[in-house]
Amino acid sequence: MKKQRKPELVARIRSMLEAKMSQADIAKKLDLAPSTVAFHVKTNLGVKPAKYRKAEPVRGGKRKCVKCGERKTPGAFGNKYDAECTMCIRAKSS
Ligand SMILES: [Zn+2]
Repeated sequence: MKKQRKPELVARIRSMLEAKMSQADIAKKLDLAPSTVAFHVKTNLGVKPAKYRKAEPVRGGKRKCVKCGERKTPGAFGNKYDAECTMCIRAKSS
């Protein structure tokens, strides 16, 4: 399926950006991949996107965190798009 332009979504992303939310937080709130938010930000809002690494695929029920390199269960990640485990994300924001 071809990606369609979503003016409502872009408007929501814009207002969240203006509220000083990070692109990662916006992605979580809207249940989108961070790369999708970055795409909309770059394409439709002309803002330089934050860099995100793609999440590793789940193998044997576990996913490798791109930050600490540990293999963890999906529950250790904020959502299925997060490349870093919640512990790494928490460590970063503190
Ligand atoms: Zn980690």
